[in-house]
Amino acid sequence: MKHYLEVQFTLSGPLPSESKGEIEELFKQFSEKTQESRDKGEFKITEWKTKETKLDITISSVDSLSPHVAVLRLRKQLSAVIGKKYRVGLRGFAFIKYIIETELEEKPVKEFTLPLVKNLEFFEEKGKSFVKIEIDPEIEEDFVEKGAIERIIRRVGEKISKQHYGAKKEHHQISWYSGEKKHHTEENPTQLMQNANWIQRTNYRNQWILSPTITALAEALKQIMIDYLYEPLGFNQMMIPKLVDWSIWLRSEHAEGIYQGGFEPYFVVQPKSADPEYFEEIADYITITKTIPTEKLAEKVSAPIGGLSYAQCPPFWSWLQGKTLAKESLPIKIFDWSGPTYRYESGSAYGFERVDELHRIETLFIGSPEQAKEIGIQVKDKLRIIFEEVLDLEVREAKVTPWWLQQSAHEDEMDTAEDLVVGTIDYEAYMPYRGSRKESEWLEIQNISIIGQKYPKGFSVKAEGNIELWSGCGGGSFERFLTAFISQKGLDKNNWPEKFMKYIDKLPEPVKFH
Ligand code: ATP
Ligand code: MG
Ligand code: ZN
Repeated sequence: MKHYLEVQFTLSGPLPSESKGEIEELFKQFSEKTQESRDKGEFKITEWKTKETKLDITISSVDSLSPHVAVLRLRKQLSAVIGKKYRVGLRGFAFIKYIIETELEEKPVKEFTLPLVKNLEFFEEKGKSFVKIEIDPEIEEDFVEKGAIERIIRRVGEKISKQHYGAKKEHHQISWYSGEKKHHTEENPTQLMQNANWIQRTNYRNQWILSPTITALAEALKQIMIDYLYEPLGFNQMMIPKLVDWSIWLRSEHAEGIYQGGFEPYFVVQPKSADPEYFEEIADYITITKTIPTEKLAEKVSAPIGGLSYAQCPPFWSWLQGKTLAKESLPIKIFDWSGPTYRYESGSAYGFERVDELHRIETLFIGSPEQAKEIGIQVKDKLRIIFEEVLDLEVREAKVTPWWLQQSAHEDEMDTAEDLVVGTIDYEAYMPYRGSRKESEWLEIQNISIIGQKYPKGFSVKAEGNIELWSGCGGGSFERFLTAFISQKGLDKNNWPEKFMKYIDKLPEPVKFH
């Protein structure tokens, strides 16, 4: 890798000419030490000069210390020298020009740009591909300190590999199958439920009203989850917040994958002011016209402050953030169904199986690696009983690409040590109306993952005595469970399994419309 940097430090005052010898010596020693500490490459401070309150330095390096890292180190050493003796302080630095040249594994399919990069130039030399990255001189100092340059270089490679291989191939390997089950209908379950007035579309995209009839079925499923899964395994219910600010999605790394195929949140905005006067004009307009002036309204609200709950568990983690868990509190086992989850499901209108406002159950556990693995397996076994025995569904389990690799930007960073046990299993149900078992698409109704250290690390959660912490979680929506169930069993209660019927005293009669 080749670097060329011209950087300018701002000083609190001019440097006296007698300081020049010392500065020269500092730079010389810095270069020599850097050169000595590496057995290859070349590092040079090629030029420096100072005028009034500016200090300009030029650094070039080939397969050696990156100049921006050198600048961060030099800043410390320089302030020590000139601060003490000459009472001149370092105010900060700015890049005049920073060019990084590096070899690429593959050449890009098409050119692209990146934030904080002024120019990206791809070229070939002796059959090899290279990129010349010119960093935007406006890049802020603290971004440089926090690793943005390194991430820019990595991002170039990631984007090229995405151009070649597309969005990651979904890994999918069936690991268990209930076997064929008798189904009682070949109709589209959404239409069945709509025609029976169990569910009704609203004016808003992919949102439904759940009538008392279908709600009773969801409540039955809750009790089944408690009796077969949460009670025997000692899970407790809690209420996780459903408005998620950016700080959480930054730590969970969802933010990095925003609208990249796997994380499509609804955004939340705030009023720029809550003063009645600020909105008076809008209120008057609505009163007079009976319409909403959405454009005008948009001017009066903030940029998004975050979004609505997308995957339920990220905001759970701010509870434990920065804390050290007592050994006796481990493992933690919780579940949440305290509110809906929102996803902007793009494309055409969907049925009840793919809604924008969904009612999801989240199952979450934290403990030592052994505990997390054990609980993950127990939860999986119980889920299998619920789907296969209680609901009598034709289902299968498949090992798939973990959701956190889909939903964040990172596609192939899987810790190899964790590889064998860390991962996601999806439960998929056969939907007879879609066609044959072999050719049709099955419906994912639930997943369960052992995630490893990702979340405890991301939210800086520790455990007493330095026990390594792992977590796992799983989600499934009532919409998916019920769509799958009706798709196989139909609406007639007489065809429903006995174990499920035990949980239904009386199904409320649907309201009839004339
Ligand atoms: P899909 O690939 O079908 O969109 P997903 O991978 O986005 O599903 P996850 O993020 O893994 O789903 O969420 C886990 C569970 O949440 C799913 O198994 C399903 O039960 C439920 N779910 C996800 N999206 C929806 C939706 N739009 N409508 C209803 N349920 C959903
Ligand atoms: Mg999805
Ligand atoms: Zn989760």
